[in-house]
Amino acid sequence: MNTNAGNLCKRVRRIVLKIGTSVLTTAKGHFSLAAVNQLVNQIASLRKDGKEMIVVSSGAIACGMDTLRITARPRTLPELQACAAVGQGKLMKAYEDAAIQHGFHTAQILLTRDGLYDRLRYLNFRNTLNSLLALGAVPIVNENDSVSTDEIRFGDNDMLSALVAAAVQPDLLILLTDVSGLIDRAKHTRIPRIASVTELDHAIKNHVYDEVRQHTVGGMFAKLKAIRIVMRSGVTAVMADGKLENILEDILQEKDCGTFFIPVKSRLKGRKQWLAHHAKVKGVLAVDSGAYEALVMSGKSLLASGVRRVEGNFKEGDIVSICDHHCREFARGLVNYSYEDLCKIMGKKSQEISAILNATTFREVIHRDNLAVLLENE
Ligand code: GLU
Repeated sequence: MNTNAGNLCKRVRRIVLKIGTSVLTTAKGHFSLAAVNQLVNQIASLRKDGKEMIVVSSGAIACGMDTLRITARPRTLPELQACAAVGQGKLMKAYEDAAIQHGFHTAQILLTRDGLYDRLRYLNFRNTLNSLLALGAVPIVNENDSVSTDEIRFGDNDMLSALVAAAVQPDLLILLTDVSGLIDRAKHTRIPRIASVTELDHAIKNHVYDEVRQHTVGGMFAKLKAIRIVMRSGVTAVMADGKLENILEDILQEKDCGTFFIPVKSRLKGRKQWLAHHAKVKGVLAVDSGAYEALVMSGKSLLASGVRRVEGNFKEGDIVSICDHHCREFARGLVNYSYEDLCKIMGKKSQEISAILNATTFREVIHRDNLAVLLENE
């Protein structure tokens, strides 16, 4: 498998590794210490090769269920949260015990979705991860399941790992699961490579099937949704079977395994990265084709004259999503006007705004410096 990017092993320095529950459990859903040890052996050998490893690990709920001898996955949130509270400590102990055998330590980081909405907390999270790596510890990230409510949940660790990857910009995101990769539904074969976001969208429409599982969440749709974010962040992703013995090395050697997802070429930097993927979106502005071109092709700001429709409940300074006339989101930005004011001025010329609102106003609805165009082009 060649990703056109040279030898992956040489090129990759930082890896985000997502380990799904199905990789850490037996066929009957029991938590497997042997699986943890096997993975930590592989992590240790990559560390020896100079790779920085950040792990996003599921398994807390499964481990808690196992400890409490619960066989069917609970249906209520408090019960799931209780299982996670029992399991998370045990999960970390399993990783730490295995890591110590190889002479390094692990560090627990538990996140909720709203922890990354705020830019200061987002930066703190990144700084902590960087410090841990500098100190030689392996961060093990999971959702803070026992306090997450629906509004502040990532929902599944595929999305969590995508957002972690967008934040720490690794050279590679590896999603380990219990299937060999993305499967072509018609041919029943593994698709070795998805070369663009457009190809991914095609695959999502045509190749994906999801099965209902007893012990895990996520599934193929969730994975591909997360991978879409990762590709648009400029990070290569690989989905592969985590039960295979040397899968991490095989991936880095670019052997014929898993599905490789080739990202867009450029990367958003700094604040624009946060704007594009982490901030909470409070509304939607639909714009005409002139505004679309001005934003995407000419690097201009968004003016009121190009806004055609406004939705949401936002104030000035909130983050909004910007869509084209097909309702396709292509940018996000920090808006200078509230929903109410924007309803009054959309479609109007910049010179008319002060008179309409009877106030001193901004020329732009969203200034270019506060706008991130979501990358699609290959
Ligand atoms: N955070 C959950 C756990 O540790 C898993 C969520 C997921 O697998 O996507 O059990």
